[in-house]
Amino acid sequence: MLPAEKLSYKPGSTLTTCPYCGVGCGVRATLHSDGQVDIAGDESHASNYGRLCVKGSALGETVDLDGRLLYPKMRVEADATQPLQRVSWDAALDQVAHGFRSIIEQHGPDSVALYVSGQLLTEDYYIANKLMKGYIGSANIDTNSRLCMSSAVAGHKRAFGADLVPVCYEDLELADLVVLVGSNTAWCHPILFQRIARIKETRPQMKLVVIDPRRTATCELADLHLPLKAGSDVWLFNGLLSFLARNNAIDNNFVDTSTNGMAAALDVAESGCVDHGAVAKACKLDPHDLLTFYEWFAAHERTVTAFSQGVNQSSSGTDKVNSIINCHLLTGRIGRPGMGPFSITGQPNAMGGREVGGLANMLAAHMELENPQHRQTVQDFWQAPRMAERPGLKAVDLFHAIESGRVKAVWIIATNPVVSLPDADQVQRALAKCELVVVSDIIEKTDTNAFAHVLLPALSWGEKDGTVTSSERRISRQRAFLPTPGEARADWQILCQVAQRMGFKGFDFAAVHQVFDEHARLSAYRNGDAFGQRRTFNLSGLSGLDQKQFDAMAPVQWPLTTLASGDKRGTPRLFADRRFAHPDGKARFIATVPRGPQYATDSDYPLSLNTGRVRDQWHTMTRTGKSPKLADHVPESFVDMHPQDALLHGVREGMLARISSRWGEMVARVQHSGGIARDSIFVPIHWNGQSASDARVGALVNPAVDPVSGEPEFKHTPVRVEEFRVAWYGFVLSRSRPMLDDVTHWTRIQGRRFNRYELAGRSPISEHSTWAAALLGVDTADADWLEYQDVSAGIYRAVHVVDDRIDACVFLSPRPDLPSRAWLASLFGKEKLDDADRIGLLLGQPIEKGVDTGPTVCSCFGIGRNTICDAVRKQGLTNVAQVTACLKAGGNCGSCVPEIKKLLSEILVEEGA
Ligand code: SF4
Repeated sequence: MLPAEKLSYKPGSTLTTCPYCGVGCGVRATLHSDGQVDIAGDESHASNYGRLCVKGSALGETVDLDGRLLYPKMRVEADATQPLQRVSWDAALDQVAHGFRSIIEQHGPDSVALYVSGQLLTEDYYIANKLMKGYIGSANIDTNSRLCMSSAVAGHKRAFGADLVPVCYEDLELADLVVLVGSNTAWCHPILFQRIARIKETRPQMKLVVIDPRRTATCELADLHLPLKAGSDVWLFNGLLSFLARNNAIDNNFVDTSTNGMAAALDVAESGCVDHGAVAKACKLDPHDLLTFYEWFAAHERTVTAFSQGVNQSSSGTDKVNSIINCHLLTGRIGRPGMGPFSITGQPNAMGGREVGGLANMLAAHMELENPQHRQTVQDFWQAPRMAERPGLKAVDLFHAIESGRVKAVWIIATNPVVSLPDADQVQRALAKCELVVVSDIIEKTDTNAFAHVLLPALSWGEKDGTVTSSERRISRQRAFLPTPGEARADWQILCQVAQRMGFKGFDFAAVHQVFDEHARLSAYRNGDAFGQRRTFNLSGLSGLDQKQFDAMAPVQWPLTTLASGDKRGTPRLFADRRFAHPDGKARFIATVPRGPQYATDSDYPLSLNTGRVRDQWHTMTRTGKSPKLADHVPESFVDMHPQDALLHGVREGMLARISSRWGEMVARVQHSGGIARDSIFVPIHWNGQSASDARVGALVNPAVDPVSGEPEFKHTPVRVEEFRVAWYGFVLSRSRPMLDDVTHWTRIQGRRFNRYELAGRSPISEHSTWAAALLGVDTADADWLEYQDVSAGIYRAVHVVDDRIDACVFLSPRPDLPSRAWLASLFGKEKLDDADRIGLLLGQPIEKGVDTGPTVCSCFGIGRNTICDAVRKQGLTNVAQVTACLKAGGNCGSCVPEIKKLLSEILVEEGA
């Protein structure tokens, strides 16, 4: 690996965009000559006005080269057990081009595929799509965005005629009622949540309703939480449609002049959802609460209904989206400030991918693959030799086609499907059988890369250059400020180089701004009534930018047809003219018949598994997993369940449990957050084979998909939970990697100057001292090796000290109730242990009371639960502002504010206040 110190850093500040969620916050990155990067919010960026959540704030901790893939690698031996070998770019590109070309020649264009990602920049996405759909002649290109927002795309297309997000972030601030459906906004889109929270502080009469089966951190701000039964959203919104119709909330003028299909939609709604009591029963809600929501919705014209994965990730996701949009169409609440349905995207460039047609059923620039006029338009513009003529395979189907041998070569770019796809063991089986697996990635060892025949090193955030589009259609620049490490290349360049080697013309771009320019020009090509195709997606105002203008490009919302007028803002909201993208200019109501999840729970698998994100991690942790600042909040995978269900299934909080479904199994720590209803559980999506031995939740998730969008049902899989029986629990903190051969279950957590491992083992340990020394690689004969053992209780502890610094420690017990890791972890920052530290070492806690801070709540300032609770109790603090004034906690990014609120209310209840 190329050591970081060999790189030459050009100090300075660069404005760029956060690579995580779809909020698309502006970031100011300041690079120092030693390679350190300071991160701050970009005050001029209209997404965040200078604020960043904890993930964005920690970006500087994720740009090191540890674990990076820096050189092309290939399987040179036929033997699959041999490691990949470093090769030249020429060799790797030739191998990919030759492999794809010969498979296409033998089996046709549909025998190859690309599987790409919402992490790609728009320019990367554009080239990938052009190569597949215009040159290879197949639409077998799909993206991991299929997993998070394709139901929103399908819902938009059905209702509006194109994939158009009507609203902007400002509308959330202008609304009198904000409804968050299936969205833990406080954790998954924190800056957006904070914008809502600040407005609510200044306008307390503004109402916030959260519709979510779980009581999440988002609910801490809500006026009303509706914990609906998983999958019952269409009942709830059909009931609302019916209620609005019967309570004179119809905007007759809007419905008559600007929509079609109301009668049919209302007929379906009225057939099963006219009685709010029956709807409450179907959704398992309190009828009074449901009625309150219906009344609030009817009474507040300025209503925004924002929805996210809880709506989209369902076998009826598209209907759920349309059932929400129907209510906005009925009341005419669209196209005006402070109102409208709002799909909040999960990934930084899910929207950019949609613009270039990154999904298997779309064409570039919001054109339709199945529309011959659109195909001709794109073919003429590209001068493309072989256009795809029918939709390609969507993500789940694609990996089934790989397993069956129909698709023989796949190029996976910037995504980790062995972790993230449903029925993820099937993905492993598919890749193991595939003739040619090419993976472009920034990290060398991932669960997916283990199946690669060719590995191509890509540029990472901070090294690559291009654009991304946020949830509100705002295009922002991601700018490079770090030198290129090793031989990594931009994804668009790699794709162009393979295309050229395959003999295709049209890929001779010299710089990324030229790719953006072609994308912008295509959006305007034959776009207008004169051509019989008026497309809303239009970037003609951004075409013709030269390098300098592209470098200086300010964030802007599409559509944008001219910059000459000086309008740098673009179009904040759509449909102000009440004209939609269907040929008749009208929006469509969609009749949505409620239906439950595809697989019902039964006596073998009685619990419903819901999956999602935690506050401080992102996707499969390849980047956020590197940050010690982000590691502490939720250090390992967990299964959150109701205490009565835990009792019923023989598990207790803190123990490990095995979770199984018909498709796979995993192990996680049992937790009771208090936010989970009976008969359901929640497991986070992030842990994988690199960060834990068996915590890949994708392996359990059922492969059912929405019939319209192809989006998988991540929010409901029938599962069972049972005890994961072990002989001992333990943890290790160590400056080097321990030998984990004898450990049944482990999770690795990145610490500052150490690695932490949570461990558990099936086989009893007979000789603890020998075992621990072997685990840590310590020759105890000459070492400063401190031990404590209580043989009858099965407790063993050892600490290895080198030159008066702690080097490693291991704590074992037959029960999971081990000492807090926080104080021991803090010792790794000390150059020399003092006497008091040494006395506390084997206790695992300081001898003075109050130094153990407990699990992290505020990641920005490293403030733990114990510190906050102590301050609240001792100083009589009663609100978050007081906690912030006292401890700083919650005073930076604000992501932990809902948790501080929860702690405050728990203590107030406990003290009977
Ligand atoms: S909310 Fe956080 S993760 Fe999302 S874009 Fe902003 S800083 Fe990044």
